[in-house]
Amino acid sequence: MRFILIFLVLAFSLQAKTELYFINKKGEKLKRIGYPGKTTVLKIDKSIKNPKVFFNKKEYPVIKIKNHLLSLIAVNYKTPLGDYKVLIKGDNFKKTLFFRIKDAHYKKERLKVDPKKVHLSKRDLKRVKKEYLEAMKIYSAFTPKKLWRGDFISPIKSKITSSFGNARIFNSSLKSYHSGTDFRAKMNTKIKASNSGKVVLAKNRFFAGNSIIIDHGLGIYTCYYHLNRFKVRKNQYVKKGEIIALSGKSGRVTAPHLHFSIRINGVQVDPLQAIKTLNSL
Ligand SMILES: [Zn+2]
Repeated sequence: MRFILIFLVLAFSLQAKTELYFINKKGEKLKRIGYPGKTTVLKIDKSIKNPKVFFNKKEYPVIKIKNHLLSLIAVNYKTPLGDYKVLIKGDNFKKTLFFRIKDAHYKKERLKVDPKKVHLSKRDLKRVKKEYLEAMKIYSAFTPKKLWRGDFISPIKSKITSSFGNARIFNSSLKSYHSGTDFRAKMNTKIKASNSGKVVLAKNRFFAGNSIIIDHGLGIYTCYYHLNRFKVRKNQYVKKGEIIALSGKSGRVTAPHLHFSIRINGVQVDPLQAIKTLNSL
């Protein structure tokens, strides 16, 4: 009897521990480590009713992908390194996970661009501010429906010329970081939609030039910049692999290329790492 009781207590306590863990891109458990500008997946046990996830004073949506209940913890590039807490709350459930953010060791690069795109005129500053607010409004909208299907694909098959996260110095003065991945692309190279979704922006912008943003639903957006010609319009639904534009050199660039980026829950993260992570689920 005593043995059974111990067994029961043990079984119960094992269950009570729940199945909360971080999974890395290989699907391995218990890697509670993140990096600035990278996405970490938090898997949530289905037994938790109405789960809510909080990290760095922000709520991260809990979404369902391939029968998993999870939250995509997209860490802002500028997040200071150190130990953080992730809070998971549900009906009669509360758990805090420790989340260590480590150095991603991004590279540095120097670029020379049109001085007018570094030292902005009053008019350009006004335009940039307006475009920034417009973009933030788009990214803060959460489409509860999953519009994408299967794996995300690369928008172009080409050499990467600059990776996400590179610390950048423009014309030896302006300091910034690279917010996406650059692919080599001659003028008018066909650009594909990384996955299915809805075009929520297709217009010319000061830095990004001719830009397309696709909403894939569940807080995921992909962006395609410095384009030459649009092949789709705002509010149009596109399918994965569909040609959405021809590449170009519009906006703040040194040469023709495609700048590809992703936003997850409003946070700009490494698009290739995010795609790998999503595709591995
Ligand atoms: Zn770029």
